[in-house]
Amino acid sequence: MIPAEFDYVRPGSIDEALAALRDGGEDAKVLAGGHSLLPLMKLRMAAPTLLVDLGAIPGLNGIERANGGWRIGAMTPHVAMERQTELGLASKVAGTIADPQVRHRGTIGGSLAHGDPASDQLAILLACDGSVVVRGESGEREIAAAELFLDYLTTAVADGEVLTEVRLPAMDGYGFGYRKFNRRQEDWAMVAVGALVKKAPDGTCEDVRVGLTHMSSVPLRATAVEQALRGQPLDPNSIAAAAEQAAEGTDPPADLNASADYKRHLARVLTKRALTDASA
Ligand SMILES: Cc1cc2nc3c(=O)[nH]c(=O)nc-3n(C[C@H](O)[C@H](O)[C@H](O)COP(=O)(O)OP(=O)(O)OC[C@H]3O[C@@H](n4cnc5c(N)ncnc54)[C@H](O)[C@@H]3O)c2cc1C
Repeated sequence: MIPAEFDYVRPGSIDEALAALRDGGEDAKVLAGGHSLLPLMKLRMAAPTLLVDLGAIPGLNGIERANGGWRIGAMTPHVAMERQTELGLASKVAGTIADPQVRHRGTIGGSLAHGDPASDQLAILLACDGSVVVRGESGEREIAAAELFLDYLTTAVADGEVLTEVRLPAMDGYGFGYRKFNRRQEDWAMVAVGALVKKAPDGTCEDVRVGLTHMSSVPLRATAVEQALRGQPLDPNSIAAAAEQAAEGTDPPADLNASADYKRHLARVLTKRALTDASA
């Protein structure tokens, strides 16, 4: 459980961090909360030769409302999002992540850059059509959530780039629900479903978003569910019929906790419950 030897720097600005990453080459890694990277290093599944700690860079930690959405600094810990209840679904989801220690150390930027499909906030960013901002030596670019998650633990944040900010649409007027299934309260999700529902004045479904966690090597939108429910009455029958589509287009990884079929079953059940919560 002792990692391979590595060097460590704690730059005071993004420019210094980018220079350190360039000088460190392909074996240099950004360090945020360390709650995914350090376990991998201790298991010798990752062996970076240089860690570039973002902890001393000003301006990367905080949540503010701007342009009809939220700007969340990459180094913002999960607990800060949990406490900012105006974030709605993302706040509720942050409160379900592991235990207080993980929520105090782990960051939203680290979670999104790491791209673990069992992580809770990825499918929420996707469902809200959010984005992230990354800085590299050639400048800044914005990556839409739909373009961010490429494969298991693989995101569009390139080596040598730093994710600096998360942009989350406010989703004002949407009800929300989050259902996460795990064996023990603080475990990772076997499957989780986040739902957002906007009601039309006549009570029908004006818009709906459903994000699926751990149903593939990347987070997914349950587009078949969304299409089935949009424009329909928000009653138990329509919700149940739409939720039946939740496993469409998924490819859930079987693991020690659940077979792929069981995860498909979970997706349908949790989608029904999350949509019911969001419509209430
Ligand atoms: C016991 C335990 C239980 C957990 N349970 C859950 C859970 O239920 N749900 C959940 O969602 N998460 C869970 N986590 C993970 C936790 O949320 C981590 O915080 C998160 O996965 C990574 O965030 P971090 O800040 O710790 O990143 P780090 O571990 O520091 O970094 C992770 C990876 O992302 C890269 N990276 C980090 N920040 C940036 C950046 N700003 N720009 C570019 N690259 C960056 C690093 O180089 C590294 O490759 C758990 C962790 C532990 C230890």
